[in-house]
Amino acid sequence: MSTWNQIIGHDWAVRLLQGAITHQRVGHAYLITGPEQIGKTTLARTFAQALNCEAVVGERPCGQCRTCQLVAANRHPDVRLLEPEVSKRGKATIKIDAVRELQRGLNLAAYEARMKVAILRQFDAANANAANAFLKTLEEPPANVVLLLTATDADTLLPTIASRCRVIGLRPLPLSLIEQSLTTRWHVPEKRAYLLAHLADGRLGWAVQASQDATILQERESQLEQLEDVVNGRRVDRFNLADKLSRKPEQLPALLKNWLSWWRDLALLTQVHKSVGTHSLPIHNIDQESRLHELIDRWSSEQIQSSLKQTDLALWQLERNANTRLVLENLFLTYPLL
Ligand SMILES: [Zn+2]
Repeated sequence: MSTWNQIIGHDWAVRLLQGAITHQRVGHAYLITGPEQIGKTTLARTFAQALNCEAVVGERPCGQCRTCQLVAANRHPDVRLLEPEVSKRGKATIKIDAVRELQRGLNLAAYEARMKVAILRQFDAANANAANAFLKTLEEPPANVVLLLTATDADTLLPTIASRCRVIGLRPLPLSLIEQSLTTRWHVPEKRAYLLAHLADGRLGWAVQASQDATILQERESQLEQLEDVVNGRRVDRFNLADKLSRKPEQLPALLKNWLSWWRDLALLTQVHKSVGTHSLPIHNIDQESRLHELIDRWSSEQIQSSLKQTDLALWQLERNANTRLVLENLFLTYPLL
């Protein structure tokens, strides 16, 4: 089942796409932007259904007809999904061969659909060759083809790509909407929904996934324990841990993002502490609140700010294939001692 009504949040984007169909002003290409797991592909897929739904009466997409079901299952021959390949180091890339194959398919007549749709997920992962090859399709799109690209940010794409698309920028959903949706639609227990909504950073897709897959929160807990090990460790312990963690490079981006969120909470609490006293701000790691309060009494705000900045830098360096162990060693030397 999937209909426009089932999309949570992003109301204006839904209205915009519905209106394009109603007024027969569907563009050749759309670029849907926003953070990971915020609902970009769900929006794209629902649009693909609406463009091709077989329902004669009632709202389209109906979510029930053969077309709607095939699109939802990613098995419709005329609605193609192109995703990046992910390397062992966790780096996602869209390569030129994949783009060429998609282009060959788009140039053929549709099997059964009114509109052929290509959903190109995370197009910011396209390398320069792939992006340039795809530009040709954007410049001269085949008839009855709609291209739906998703990316974190329009600025990460070639300007020539973004400028040929209608850009739909999705924003993080309010914490309360995520919490409420988790309890009512996904029947997540209240306490769990409260924690997940805080951790989600406005990304409903993440919250739903974490509510269904217990390993996600377990993983987070062990990552926070590792951070405690670092700040509690002496120099030699830190080097050992850097060595151990560097053996699983594919896990590092997620680990560092969690640590980043933890340092950001500390920085936020420090500011609140010093300016307006006890007034509480929505920190992410809400289950760690008392521990975070302990730590802001021990560390200076400069130490916290510097750790936040260095963690962000380490993430940036790893994305650019820097030596994993060196990056971690440098990072661990900048973290304050407990
Ligand atoms: Zn349908």
